[in-house]
Amino acid sequence: MAKSRENGTTILLGLKGYEVGKVTKEGKGIVVEVQTDLKKPVCPCCNSTRLYRHGRAKKRKVLHGWSQGKKVYIEIARQRWRCRECGHSFTGGAELVHPHSRLTRQAEAEALWQLRDRSFNQVKRELGVGYGTLRRLLEREIDEEALGFIKEEEEIFLGIDEHSFRHQELVHTVTEVKKRKMLGILRDDRIATLKMFLKKIPAKKVKEVCIDMKESLRKVAEEVFPKAKVVVDPFHVIADSNRRMDEARRIEQDVLRKRRVKIPKRIFLIGREKLGVEKRQGVDELLDKYPSLKGFYWAKEKIRELYRQESKEEAARILDNIIFNLKLSDDGELIRWGNTLKRWKEPILNHFDNGTTNGFTEGCNTKIKMLKRVSYGLRNVEVYWRKMLLGFVPSRSCFHTI
Ligand SMILES: [Zn+2]
Repeated sequence: MAKSRENGTTILLGLKGYEVGKVTKEGKGIVVEVQTDLKKPVCPCCNSTRLYRHGRAKKRKVLHGWSQGKKVYIEIARQRWRCRECGHSFTGGAELVHPHSRLTRQAEAEALWQLRDRSFNQVKRELGVGYGTLRRLLEREIDEEALGFIKEEEEIFLGIDEHSFRHQELVHTVTEVKKRKMLGILRDDRIATLKMFLKKIPAKKVKEVCIDMKESLRKVAEEVFPKAKVVVDPFHVIADSNRRMDEARRIEQDVLRKRRVKIPKRIFLIGREKLGVEKRQGVDELLDKYPSLKGFYWAKEKIRELYRQESKEEAARILDNIIFNLKLSDDGELIRWGNTLKRWKEPILNHFDNGTTNGFTEGCNTKIKMLKRVSYGLRNVEVYWRKMLLGFVPSRSCFHTI
């Protein structure tokens, strides 16, 4: 009975059901003898359990864990088996050690887990597992499917965002914004790559796709998920209005360059509701002095007001008002802004259905930037990409072949 073999050592080493023998110190490590033949395997060829013993395999010493800064090895005595059904012969203990690995599956999972927020060098220093092994593990364990896919979900709310990868290149990140799950970091920013990835998601279940105001993303979303609603992330709309406000200020400043005028920046970008009485007066004085900024400031504040609304109807009323006034303007830039908002009216208002934002996706991008710093200097893009995905694996049990 396997149960009777349970003792302190088997529990400590996570080797329940195996027979543990002598524990010896050996150099800088600890070696534990383990017998695997108590667990009767199934034939890897035909899944039959009709097996008979067929000699013994050579003992193997493999790294199993770490204790008090020492490596703990297990020395496995393995049984050879032969299948009565198909005649295939094989060595037992494969559930403990992946064939050809010098680490047990448990040690592999631990090493990968440690690599999530550490560099290859740090893991090598702390666990004594080298780059070659870790890279092999990454390649075996991390792919798009490793991110715990969403096939069992009834409704899917996607978030798509861009972040810069290795300084300049942009890459798309795809998440589930309601369940707060990372779905994929794509290898490049080509629309074709994004489309290919999105097509793997069951389209019927996708209710919303949250993006920023980018025509190319909207086109893909509408094409791949014709039934879903496109939602523009509120933070992007507000950030966009701040960018337009600041650009107008800079242009005004450039026009007045000869007079060495410097127009303050920050005060225009802070929400008016956050300013004290004096600061508000300050803004108003600046706007009187530089009237070309008035329309931008008004629209930017109006957009903030739009997002303070609870109901879609109220928000729609304000948005119509913004668009109407911007288009009446004699400033070409304001008219263009009005046209953009008109084109994006529906996606902007769709936010008010479920309050969907890309906040989670943004958070992922911040995390990617942190992981990037840890992995700084990795030249191989493929390894780098997998290491980044590894950072989003929610738990050790997600490593599927370990
Ligand atoms: Zn068989």
